[in-house]
Amino acid sequence: MTAKLLEGGALANQIRAEIAREAKVLKEQGRQVCLAAVQVGEKPESVMYVKSQEKVCAEVGIAFRLVQLPSAISQAVLLHAIEELNKDPSVHGIILQLPLPARLDARLAQRAIDPRKDAEGVHPINLGLIVYGATQRAPCTAIAAYSLIKSLHVDLYGKEAVVVGHSQIVGKPIGLLLLHDYCTVCTCHIATRDLAAHTKRADLLVVAAGKPRLITKDMVKPGAIVVDIGVNRVPVLDAKGQPVLNEKGNPKHQILGDVDFEGVKEVAEWITPVPGGVGPLTVTMLLRNVMEQAKQDAK
Ligand code: NAD
Repeated sequence: MTAKLLEGGALANQIRAEIAREAKVLKEQGRQVCLAAVQVGEKPESVMYVKSQEKVCAEVGIAFRLVQLPSAISQAVLLHAIEELNKDPSVHGIILQLPLPARLDARLAQRAIDPRKDAEGVHPINLGLIVYGATQRAPCTAIAAYSLIKSLHVDLYGKEAVVVGHSQIVGKPIGLLLLHDYCTVCTCHIATRDLAAHTKRADLLVVAAGKPRLITKDMVKPGAIVVDIGVNRVPVLDAKGQPVLNEKGNPKHQILGDVDFEGVKEVAEWITPVPGGVGPLTVTMLLRNVMEQAKQDAK
């Protein structure tokens, strides 16, 4: 069997088009939808994320406001900046760019964001609401993977679902979301004794471990739906296992998922590519969370 590709691009474009339509309607009513990003210092990873967020916001007509704070600020100053955005009626979503300098407590700062403006869905209140099946401000990656699964329109009732990874914002919420569809959910993690024994039983296998090629062909049930959330930047190696260099003489890198795509595609029925699977939907869910709040405010 060669698996069918479960790609996120088309669904992401469809949701973004809807968001763009809604943003236009609100703008015509004099309401500009706005996402504010708080960035402390200028770590290259967060600079890269800020640029891509700014770009996707522009594409759907959402204004992007960057609040840049020097890396030497105290926790109190960071909390104050978040509070100002909470109070600002022209801001509908807030995102805290990570990583923060080590001195600052990221979790405390995320908790300071008004849960209604929590664009990433990482506030404890929004995480807690998932227990009730509420997904209006769900964590972006979890809801992205879940939406991709739902886009297949397969009956999930009674399916064996195995989630590899139990992080607060990815693995755990995905398990809860699948429970709502009456999947029998098993969550595996670093202390799971025999990972393959679990994954081999999965009709639906969702992997978010951050371990390149953790899931191999022999660990997957024939006909399974395989959703790979992992994003791993690894060096490209030649046939002798030596790093391949780029034109500047630096090691070349590639992005791999947590699933051995080439092997697993021979047994699965559906498989997400990496990149191109869950990734395009994740940032779309960020926009969707912002739009949800803007629509609430407009009522
Ligand atoms: P995390 O490090 O917080 O959690 C990793 C989880 O995997 C933990 O529960 C850990 O116990 C488990 N794990 C690690 N090694 C394991 C092993 N050998 N066997 C079984 N379980 C193992 O990571 P996270 O934030 O949940 O992210 C997971 C992956 O998803 C990462 O690769 C990350 O880059 C990726 N990610 C992708 C997107 C996207 O948009 N596609 C967004 C966020 C995160």
